[in-house]
Amino acid sequence: MLELMKLVNEAKSIAIAGHVRPDGDCVGSCLGLYNYLTENTKEKQIDVYLESVPAAFSFLKNTETALSAAKTDMVYDLFIALDCGSRDRLGFTEELFLSAKHTVSIDHHISNTMFAEYNHVEGEASSTCEVLCGFLVDSCISKETAECLYLGIVHDTGVFKHSNTSRRTMDTAGGLLEKGVSASQVIDDSFYRKTYMQNQILGRCLLESILLLEGKIIFSCVSQKMMQLYGAVPADLDGIIDQLRVTAGVEVAILIREEGVQNYKVSMRSNGKVDVSKICCLFGGGGHKMAAGCTMNGSIHDVINNLSGQIEHQLMAYSE
Ligand code: AMP
Ligand code: MN
Ligand code: MN
Repeated sequence: MLELMKLVNEAKSIAIAGHVRPDGDCVGSCLGLYNYLTENTKEKQIDVYLESVPAAFSFLKNTETALSAAKTDMVYDLFIALDCGSRDRLGFTEELFLSAKHTVSIDHHISNTMFAEYNHVEGEASSTCEVLCGFLVDSCISKETAECLYLGIVHDTGVFKHSNTSRRTMDTAGGLLEKGVSASQVIDDSFYRKTYMQNQILGRCLLESILLLEGKIIFSCVSQKMMQLYGAVPADLDGIIDQLRVTAGVEVAILIREEGVQNYKVSMRSNGKVDVSKICCLFGGGGHKMAAGCTMNGSIHDVINNLSGQIEHQLMAYSE
């Protein structure tokens, strides 16, 4: 077991960082640990780095404190990477990771490359927030810290409905509720509430979605033009893939977002038969069995053909 608190106690300066395009678990775990450490330790310089914080998470304590540019002159005693499966996914904090005296990775991606000096990866855990709770002293968790951690669990489990939700997930979340977290407020405000623009894009994605492989695959694509038209950022697409995935008969949902010329960010979700992490790993990405992502180059037809070929291959092996 990683002795996280021993490393923390010995460090005078600590950087906490997550992955590029932070999601709920990433923001929740980074701010959760930041709040926990600032509330319970003295005389340390602690910085939390997040590329951006989606507006829906802005009620969390210290969102405004998170840094979106690296303090390039800093050499941290300890760098803690959370919810990040590989070094390159750190994005703008990679240099700080490289210069830090000690590095730790706490994560739940089975595809984690064990890139840090100390790696603690629980592939079965619902979320990094769940893993993190195992390291924290319960009596030292404030309501504000609990809110961050609860939000992370809510997001990575799709509000306790994905197959990564276990007895431990529920027990952990239950413990956080006892700190005074309002479950319905966190869930509604951060997960279900959508802006008019977000709902319009959702509508378009559903309308323009295409079924392949006798309805076992559903995919939809958001062009750069569409993003510009709606003034959308990637976080505005959160939840769309989940709606695609619950289409009756579908095994795998794919949402593709055009990032540049012949350059696409691919999100995949499975209903159980297909390991989408395996497919995304083939194309340089990663994730979990039921939720994974990667970036692919080429025409949209090539991207879809490559992905559907891999899905068909796994489905054939499954039925044999
Ligand atoms: P997304 O579809 O972006 O919501 O990601 C689903 C899951 O796959 C998350 O756990 C991500 O951390 C992971 N993931 C997404 N894109 C990548 C990537 N390019 N490399 C590694 N993991 C990824
Ligand atoms: Mn994440
Ligand atoms: Mn996560």
